[in-house]
Amino acid sequence: MTSTLLIQLSEQLSSQAEIITDFTEYENYCHDATIETGQPSALIFAYDEDDICQVVNFCIAHKITLVPRGAGTGLSGGAVPQDGAIVLSLEKMTALRFDERQKVAFAQTGVITKTILNEAKKLNLFYPPDPASYDESTIGGNVAENAGGLKCVKYGVTKDYVLGIKAITMNGEIIKTGLYNHKAGFDFTELFIGSEGTLVIITEIALKLIDIPETGETILTAFDKPKDAAQTVADIRMQGITPIVLEFLDGDAAACSNSYERNDALDNVAAILLIESESTDSEAIESICRKNNCSYLNREDDPIKVETLWKVRRNLSKAVKEMSIVRISEDVAVPISKFPLLVEFVADMNKNSNLRINSFGHAGDGNLHVNFMGQTGSDNEIKQIEIEIKTLLQKAIELGGTLSGEHGIGLAKKRFLSMEFDDNCLDYMKRVKCTFDDSALLNPNKIFPKYTRI
Ligand SMILES: Cc1cc2nc3c(=O)[nH]c(=O)nc-3n(C[C@H](O)[C@H](O)[C@H](O)COP(=O)(O)OP(=O)(O)OC[C@H]3O[C@@H](n4cnc5c(N)ncnc54)[C@H](O)[C@@H]3O)c2cc1C
Repeated sequence: MTSTLLIQLSEQLSSQAEIITDFTEYENYCHDATIETGQPSALIFAYDEDDICQVVNFCIAHKITLVPRGAGTGLSGGAVPQDGAIVLSLEKMTALRFDERQKVAFAQTGVITKTILNEAKKLNLFYPPDPASYDESTIGGNVAENAGGLKCVKYGVTKDYVLGIKAITMNGEIIKTGLYNHKAGFDFTELFIGSEGTLVIITEIALKLIDIPETGETILTAFDKPKDAAQTVADIRMQGITPIVLEFLDGDAAACSNSYERNDALDNVAAILLIESESTDSEAIESICRKNNCSYLNREDDPIKVETLWKVRRNLSKAVKEMSIVRISEDVAVPISKFPLLVEFVADMNKNSNLRINSFGHAGDGNLHVNFMGQTGSDNEIKQIEIEIKTLLQKAIELGGTLSGEHGIGLAKKRFLSMEFDDNCLDYMKRVKCTFDDSALLNPNKIFPKYTRI
């Protein structure tokens, strides 16, 4: 892209909008939280919908690919730019307002998830979806990935709270869905949720809020066998109990967390569960843990001590990253009754591999994040990780599960998509993509193994 073209574009943008072409101090924008990278030609910080429309029209006129970006915490490569692309950062669009009486928040795409929680709390309202990255990720990124979180076992994931979306299409037009519009007709809200920045550029989201629920009791429990912890998860859910949070960490993940921030209870355990439950369920949960031979159990309702327990989980992704040169994290999910089989399978993979493989996740929903940790980053090691990943994904599908519980397909899993969907279904998905992005310039080469225009 020539500098003359960029000068032309900058003249059409709002006075605040910034165009960056020297990436020395902006290297972060060449990747997300995966190991994938790309070399964009420009980075643009948009401040309003007009800026976005101008950038879209520019990209169409000059056939330049465009990648929407929130905070870049994605774990499937969705915000990784194609070489030569324009990265459109939406992090400066941070207006947030509330309709307290209707219990609705209107958040521009760049609002940090935790800000919505904090601001809603001041009005005695609650926004439940809380990805572990909630102090960094943006609400636009959460909607684009349909993010899950710790409390999602009880309260549901992002899509359960989206009432409507405002977005810009690749024709440079505003499209409104749900609450922003009449509700009859096709449900574009659902379509845009989880579309991973490939259909439209989201600018604002109307979010449902609920009354603040009572805080439950926190239970930290440890096991000598990962299988027993996983069976406890399945038993709790299959007995009809829905805890507020039900997180699983295998022994190695707990050890990573322990080296990052010390907690004596985590020494030499084979697995732990971190559970928040309504007090009426705590007795039943404790007895299921004991029936499955837990070796340690601590029930805590002192808020300060409870916060220390939750740190174990919130720090985990960073802790695991620090313990390896290269880490690839997969996020499969299976029906809850199959969760023990999945955990056992991962434990066996770790035993039989010379890689370090550990796992943790929002187990109450059947989610398991499996981390493949390399100590050299060599080509051979990466190849080996790829083989192990394929084995894991095949097992998840065989157990009736899915390739991705919450991180999306992006670049990371597109070559495996046909394990989960047949050609007919993939073909219809590509037609939808083509309807919204006929020129194939909006975040192309994501999700689909091969994207050809239909
Ligand atoms: C430490 C850590 C913990 C995590 N924990 C969780 C977890 O518990 N649950 C979970 O679900 N995920 C988790 N993630 C993954 C990640 O945080 C989520 O996917 C999050 O929703 C990404 O938000 P973001 O703002 O960083 O988006 P980005 O990474 O910037 O983008 C993600 C995708 O969304 C698209 N996008 C972003 N904004 C827009 C927009 N306005 N319009 C259209 N497309 C857009 C991008 O093109 C890209 O495809 C975690 C990641 C990390 C690093």
